[in-house]
Amino acid sequence: MSSLTDDFDAALKPAERAMIARARDFAATHVAPNAKEWEYGRKQPLDAIRLAAAEGLHAIELETRFGGPQLSFSCKMRVAEEISRHDMGFAFALINVHNSMVRFARDGDPAMVARLLPKLLTAEMIASPGLTEPRAGSDFAAIRTKARKIEGGWVLDGAKAWITNAANCGLALVYAQTDASKGWKGIAGFMVEADRLGFHREPAFELLGGHAIGAGGFRLEGYEAPDAAMTAPPGQAFKFALAGINGARTYVAAMCCGMLEESIRVATRYGGERTLFGGTVMDLQGVRWKLVDALNDLEAMRALTYRAARIIDAGGDAQEPAAHAKKFAGDRTVPQIANCIQAMGANGLRADYPLMRHMACAKIACYTDGSTEIQNERLGRAMVERYGKSGGATASG
Ligand SMILES: Cc1cc2nc3c(=O)[nH]c(=O)nc-3n(C[C@H](O)[C@H](O)[C@H](O)COP(=O)(O)OP(=O)(O)OC[C@H]3O[C@@H](n4cnc5c(N)ncnc54)[C@H](O)[C@@H]3O)c2cc1C
Repeated sequence: MSSLTDDFDAALKPAERAMIARARDFAATHVAPNAKEWEYGRKQPLDAIRLAAAEGLHAIELETRFGGPQLSFSCKMRVAEEISRHDMGFAFALINVHNSMVRFARDGDPAMVARLLPKLLTAEMIASPGLTEPRAGSDFAAIRTKARKIEGGWVLDGAKAWITNAANCGLALVYAQTDASKGWKGIAGFMVEADRLGFHREPAFELLGGHAIGAGGFRLEGYEAPDAAMTAPPGQAFKFALAGINGARTYVAAMCCGMLEESIRVATRYGGERTLFGGTVMDLQGVRWKLVDALNDLEAMRALTYRAARIIDAGGDAQEPAAHAKKFAGDRTVPQIANCIQAMGANGLRADYPLMRHMACAKIACYTDGSTEIQNERLGRAMVERYGKSGGATASG
């Protein structure tokens, strides 16, 4: 019997299936053996990002006119799922390298793109999306980084925090407020280069897990951005920043699927070999049933996630499907990985197995690209719109 994933992949183009197979091989060869060291060494593996770039895994959606293969969102999402089996942190860093480059190539000033794209294509330079600040996350409209107009450009002052790839980025897409009285309409987007005067990188954050993400922050102090570096003008930047959000929510859910499947696989294999009371752990119905519950959630997570991906590629409205996928994945992955760890006894806690790393990353998935509560807000609005209209409602509908 084919799996949901087999069926999903079967509908993709041959070049997309080949890309996914390449990602699977890359993850087995370069991510799985090193993820533990990256995590406990608390470092972002820039060399491995460059190796992934050499395989084209950072440029899946990049348009052919910029040298990319211009494959589908679904392909990118499946690549993220495959890599996340071994390290969601690495997959998350890579997909942000990808997205920032695709955006920059499409929306950046042509001269700037001609100068920097070759470096981004080899990942000699990597880029970051910079929305969040020390005092503004979910409430993006409340950002305090300021952009002040000067002749020929803008002066940026402020701080960004929780930025993926901040540890090593050479380029950041920074959102800044040009006129606080206009609220979200005053926000503009700028391409900020880390080697220019006024850019100050902060040390990467020390976290419970996910260090391959290279999450951290930077300060901008009197940073002068030329007019050409503005990628999204006030009035458009807020929407521009949120343009890829349904995709991001969907691939984060797919990353959870990758981590949960690997956790179930490891726990099941371990339980089949670990003997106790004259049998194996997998002979214990109570443990088997717990892992079946995890598998059951995984199936449901995949069904929601793949549905959202199909809608995105078809150009449909994916707001609700993506929010459902991300909310459900965030809610279920953390407790189900914990159940897999429980099934392995104390050995499940050891760094020799990936489960504790995966659990930390599953928690990260509850925040990135809109927290679980923000998904609830999105879905709650839609629910009230659909079911909450007054007018003749009775107890039976
Ligand atoms: C590893 C990692 C990488 C990240 N990478 C990036 C990146 O590359 N670029 C970037 O810009 N950001 C990035 N982020 C930031 C991420 O987008 C924010 O963490 C997220 O938007 C939530 O913001 P916050 O953490 O400041 O929480 P807050 O906004 O301070 O929220 C605090 C709590 O309130 C809840 N809450 C917020 N609003 C509501 C509401 N309306 N109703 C009910 N509850 C609510 C939140 O869910 C949360 O539980 C990253 C985060 C992590 C953990």
